[in-house]
Amino acid sequence: MKKSYLLTPGPTPLPPQVCEAMARPIIHHRTPQFQLILKEVTEGLKYVFQTKNDVFVFVSSGTGAMEAAVANLLSPGDAVITVEGGKFGERWTQICQAYGINTEVIKVQWGEAVAPHKIEEKLNNARRIKAVFTTLCETSTGAVNDIAAIGKAVKDTNAVLVVDAISGLGAIDLETDAWFCDVVVSGSQKGLMLPPGLGFISVSQKAWKLIESSRCPRYYFDLKAAKKAWESTDTPFTPAITLIIALCESLKMIKQDGLENVFLRHKKMADATRLVVKALGLELFAPTCASDVVTAIKVPQGIDGEKLVKTMRDTYGVTIAGGQAELKGKVFRIAHIGFIEESDIIACISCLEKVLHQMGYKFELGQGVKAAEEAFLKG
Ligand SMILES: *Cc1c(COP(=O)(O)O)cnc(C)c1O
Repeated sequence: MKKSYLLTPGPTPLPPQVCEAMARPIIHHRTPQFQLILKEVTEGLKYVFQTKNDVFVFVSSGTGAMEAAVANLLSPGDAVITVEGGKFGERWTQICQAYGINTEVIKVQWGEAVAPHKIEEKLNNARRIKAVFTTLCETSTGAVNDIAAIGKAVKDTNAVLVVDAISGLGAIDLETDAWFCDVVVSGSQKGLMLPPGLGFISVSQKAWKLIESSRCPRYYFDLKAAKKAWESTDTPFTPAITLIIALCESLKMIKQDGLENVFLRHKKMADATRLVVKALGLELFAPTCASDVVTAIKVPQGIDGEKLVKTMRDTYGVTIAGGQAELKGKVFRIAHIGFIEESDIIACISCLEKVLHQMGYKFELGQGVKAAEEAFLKG
């Protein structure tokens, strides 16, 4: 028998209320009963997105919602800006290229945030840019971008601002309307505390105008079809009924706590984790722009990063994430998204210390746990 802990940046642990909702018998979706749930879920999503815009739900992982953004906004041959500061920024470029869109890529050193003036400059130099694709929290590096500042840079141009908030939504502040984000996409298995399977997308008036003239092919991910169905509180295709019922529960939990407190909890977990890093003589990968979503930590010299993650998981049941793509073996990532509390962090840090100790890393055993406890005692 082994008790397991999940501290990865998706999927994230499921609260008991969510598990219970998913164990209920299935109901039909074209019923007044389900319509009520759909309405409640849509209102709840608007609260979490901090928007008055339409928010639609697709049966897909988060990447499906990213693809929906590209396919609905643009036409082949259009020019867009993509910001690449990690694996997920690169995904925007790849999706755009798959649709024949010309990408002006802003390359950002991995572990750093994009300088908003770089976007402004590129927009000024190329007035035909239709959209700017960015990432709230670049989950592969742990860095968070200044979306408020980027929003200011984009709002008075013809371009729409598209934000991948897949790992950040419901974890850190993202003011969709106040920050002029035209399209925000997210997924279910991160801050929203659900299994994977739902993709979300919010659409502003400015974005709807672009959608009107867009000629990229789409069928399942057609936002106009979603909007039309929504006029009669419906979805164009069978929704993921069970996941949406579970979403209703997780949104209730978020509403009960209040978004502010949800953000504070994430900050508290992240602050403690960062203090642990310092106490253990380790180094953050994104020290200047570390997110409260996931903490990326450099693998210390002489330690096998992949083995560290594997041992924590296979020997002790604590699952954290390793590095992706060029960061494979170079960082490990402790996520504190969603249903994560002090006790999860303490369990994770204790396990990390044990394994680092066994692997020969030199530090005083207990210093990490102590730092976390002290951080939590401070409140
Ligand atoms: C997890 C994640 C994705 C990918 O989402 P999937 O649900 O795996 O498709 C994209 N962007 C960011 C920032 C993520 O954290």
